[in-house]
Amino acid sequence: MRVGIVGGGQLGRMLALAGYPLGLRFRCLEPYEDAPMAHLADLELGAYDDAEALLRFARRIDVATYEFENVHVASARQLEAHVPVFPPPIALEVAQDRLCEKTTFRELGIPVPAFAAVDSREALDAALATIGAPAVLKTRRFGYDGKGQFVIARPEDADAAWAALGGAPLILEAFVEFRRELSVLAVRGRGGEVAFYPLVENRHRDGILRVSRAPAPDITPELQALAERYATAVLERLGYVGVLAIEFFEARDDEGGVRLLANEMAPRVHNSGHWTIEGAETSQFENHLRAILGLPLGPTTPRGHSVMLNVIGTAPDIARIAAVPGAHLHLYGKEPRPGRKLGHVTVRADSAAAARAAADRVLPLLEG
Ligand code: AMP
Repeated sequence: MRVGIVGGGQLGRMLALAGYPLGLRFRCLEPYEDAPMAHLADLELGAYDDAEALLRFARRIDVATYEFENVHVASARQLEAHVPVFPPPIALEVAQDRLCEKTTFRELGIPVPAFAAVDSREALDAALATIGAPAVLKTRRFGYDGKGQFVIARPEDADAAWAALGGAPLILEAFVEFRRELSVLAVRGRGGEVAFYPLVENRHRDGILRVSRAPAPDITPELQALAERYATAVLERLGYVGVLAIEFFEARDDEGGVRLLANEMAPRVHNSGHWTIEGAETSQFENHLRAILGLPLGPTTPRGHSVMLNVIGTAPDIARIAAVPGAHLHLYGKEPRPGRKLGHVTVRADSAAAARAAADRVLPLLEG
């Protein structure tokens, strides 16, 4: 089987690494020759929306998927005329627009922060009047890693927010005083079967994921079940096939209980699932491939406790990380650049405390 991946970044690279033991071949559509996936898979050199490149690509693969969510929906549909494409392009459409995404969550009964579309300066004032401050103004499309966002702490900040982002279609969201950020990774097969990894706790800095702990500590079975119910609703609504990640804010409800507010979803394998390579019976990458190929899904059971730390900006000292027992280094073959995700380290241990202790040894090695 020849799997085509639109995009040649680290997610594609890790999909290929998971798929080679299954005897699969990989080809990426990617405009950059030195992309992480192009180091180890066939390359179809071309822009993601180049109709001719897409056609050449489609002729050389049996099934297509993507590894970033800003693939043009029209390109995904063009591929679909030749080969099966999973996840379905409708999932891209929903995930690419924060307004559509939040509206979908709300329609499915999944709680979200209060939000309103903002298309003019007047609309921003109107939205602020209903939602109140603090609030977050975000671009509806093409935001990632916290880019295209402005926190409006007080109503007086509206001018600065508008100066920063005005012009593009925007969304204003209530600022959530969350306890922590959690994500769920779900996978749905071609026959509709579903599986879930345990909730993951994520820490961000400057909008970029830094550390994930899996399973997240202090998760009641009820909270896990709630996250799975929300994910199932999305998977079914979209007729989804493959891995889907949903990011949540964990917040207190009025009665002092815990609730989940959906922030966003990613119709692909996700950074908060990298721990599954060593930390789960079947990795998110293998399960994504199993799903899109119509194979049985693999068990998502965690193997002990994992902490995943992203390597950002600065190349790490490989030998020093290798010296930490239980630390698994993954480098993506990228040139260091400030704020760039260059790799990750997963530490796995039999107890949460031991995983944490190992992570505490790795963390200073990553801080440049
Ligand atoms: P996003 O690109 O929507 O994932 O946002 C990046 C990060 O900004 C999130 O992981 C949060 O830490 C923070 N953030 C985004 N939206 C909100 C919100 N409505 N309330 C509080 N923090 C937010």
